[in-house]
Amino acid sequence: MVRRVVVLNVGENVPEETYAVLREHADVVHYGRAEPEQLRRAEVLVTFRLSREDLEMMPNLKVIQILSAGVDHLDWSSIPEDVVVCSNAGSNAVPVAEHAIALLLAAAKRIPYYHERCRSGDFSRDKTVKVLQGSVIAVLGLGPIGMRVAELAKALGMRVRGFARRPRSEPFIDEFRAYPDVRGALSGAEFAVLALPLNRHTKNMIGYEELRAMRSDGVMVNVGRGGVVSKPDLIRFLRDNPDFTYATDVYWSGDISQDADLAALPNVIATPWIAGAFGNPRVYLEMVRHAAENVLRYLRGESLRNVVDRSDYL
Ligand code: NDP
Repeated sequence: MVRRVVVLNVGENVPEETYAVLREHADVVHYGRAEPEQLRRAEVLVTFRLSREDLEMMPNLKVIQILSAGVDHLDWSSIPEDVVVCSNAGSNAVPVAEHAIALLLAAAKRIPYYHERCRSGDFSRDKTVKVLQGSVIAVLGLGPIGMRVAELAKALGMRVRGFARRPRSEPFIDEFRAYPDVRGALSGAEFAVLALPLNRHTKNMIGYEELRAMRSDGVMVNVGRGGVVSKPDLIRFLRDNPDFTYATDVYWSGDISQDADLAALPNVIATPWIAGAFGNPRVYLEMVRHAAENVLRYLRGESLRNVVDRSDYL
């Protein structure tokens, strides 16, 4: 019987045992070392990036398993309709949710602000810090990241308002608002965490009026994607509302330096996209392991997880 071919574009430093189990079911070849004939026969590709040339070299692909949870960087118009694309949602939800809570606490307790003053020898106090317990937090996006954020926020005694398309009934979600009522979700909230994917429905979903729906001294944390927020509206809102804080790990393009103007604002707390794989190599290895697990499901004839609905992107 002709063995199926799985192509891995996962870097050279991933230990063999992370995906060894795939070899029981298919020939596993590394993208950089694959022969043209192996690429031509490839049925599954595991990768972060995908070019038109890749698709031309691999005309028999049935499944593309993306390494990241976000799939907004793909050129969707170039991917044939009969190829199934899976995201890697859930592969790094724990560290990303931890990062969201770290940004939330840093903003609420004004850690960067007071730390800078203490470093310069100024130990005076001129701003109050927030208490989380009893306050309303809107969690936008209830995938694995948003659900974990909601759970942690509930453990801190916050009132959790979830926002997604499908309602959820977990005990750590006190209220729910469905898409497209994003203003209702943010209304009066002191805190918000954005854990949304960037797709054609969520792009620029948060503009000036949505920001204005929150408390003027509120805190918005973004660990999803920058493009969910309108950058010009955000900058204008932050200038008009100096007591509001925007704390973010994500930006509007792959070149973060393009958003130095935002990071320089006094009411912004910024980290350079370190919540997930770029922050810790262990997280990257877990993402590869999680992706391989889904490919294994496919090779065993089981249903795939995280199949992306391409109509969200086209
Ligand atoms: P998912 O991407 O699977 O979660 C998506 C969630 O967003 C679901 O709850 C979905 O709701 C909701 N959603 C999608 N479209 C809409 C919409 N139009 N309106 C309202 N809700 C919507 O999983 P993750 O939680 O793992 O990841 C979320 C995002 O976080 C990723 O897409 C990625 O962009 C980003 N990310 C950032 C990282 C970082 O390093 N900072 C690392 C990892 C991910 P429903 O189920 O009801 O459709």
